[in-house]
Formats: sequence, structure tokens, C-alpha cells
Amino acid sequence: MPFCEFNASPFFLEDTHATEQMGAKLWEMLPKNGFVFLHGDLGAGKTTLVRGLLRAAGVTGAIKSPTYALIEEYEVSGYKIFHFDLYRLAEPEELEWIGIDDYFNRDALCIIEWAEKGMGILPDADIQITLTRQNDGRLIEFSNKNSQ
Ligand code: ADP
Ligand code: MG
Repeated sequence: MPFCEFNASPFFLEDTHATEQMGAKLWEMLPKNGFVFLHGDLGAGKTTLVRGLLRAAGVTGAIKSPTYALIEEYEVSGYKIFHFDLYRLAEPEELEWIGIDDYFNRDALCIIEWAEKGMGILPDADIQITLTRQNDGRLIEFSNKNSQ
């Protein structure tokens, strides 16, 4: 898979800019559809990573964290990107109530913060990414295993 360059992870990201740059690199490397799960505590850098990806994809307007809206949608250069943040989800079934299948069945890249909150309803991940704090920076680790 085109993702093999990341097999040597974890990588250290020394500052916010490094996280954004990693996001941009992900946009180049990733398939433009499927499911990417982002794991890591609050403040781990998940939204920062997605912001870097979205900028690289060509998003020029405001990039909001979907913490309250649950989903932010983008369409750039013919690609659809759905950015989810499931932190505030009380139970996975809420995803069905908001008609999540409509999102999942489209040809889009779905990037999901707090995917563990949607366990049982979300499809399997194609890529899992975990961010953890280390000193003043972050560690990023990639895996294509399906454990949520
Ligand atoms: P999350 O979405 O995981 O809750 P955010 O992306 O909102 O986290 O990031 C929280 C904070 O961490 C932001 O202030 C961001 O600038 C900072 N940050 C992101 N990446 C790094 C890094 N590699 N080193 C230090 N700070 C970072
Ligand atoms: Mg976030």
C-alpha cells in the first residue's frame, strides 16, 4: 500500500507546525476515500493534523473543529472530505440518528477524531493514527490494524 513509508512510525513532531506538515504529507500519501481514525487525548493534536491535511487539500476558508457540529464537510478539487469529532457522542447509536450512512456510503475521505466513541456503528478503519504527548511535542504512530 502507498502508506508503507509510514511503517517506520512512531515519529516525533516537535511543534504545531510539524503536526500540520505531517497532515499535509498524509494528504499526499493517503487514498482519497475510506476511513482514518484518529486517537489521542484532548489536546493531543488531532485537529491540528487534520487542519494541515485540509490546507494541503486546498481548503482556503476557515477550518473549524467539529467538536460541537460533529461533522464538517469539505469539497475541494473534486474530493470530498468529512471531518468528524465524536467526543461529545453519548452513545454510538446517535450516529444512526443523524443519518451517518449517508456520509459513509459516499466516495469520500472520512477522518474521525474519537472514533472509539462510535464503536459498533463505524465501519473498520483503513488507517489508525495515534497521537500522544511527549515532552513539549507529540508522537505520531500509524497502524492499519482494525482494533478501535
Ligand atoms: P485535539 O484535536 O487532539 O484535541 P488540537 O489539534 O486541538 O488537539 O491541539 C491542541 C494543541 O496542541 C494546540 O494548541 C496545538 O497547537 C498543539 N499542538 C499540536 N501539535 C503539536 C506538537 N507537535 N507539539 C506541540 N504542540 C502541538
Ligand atoms: Mg480535536
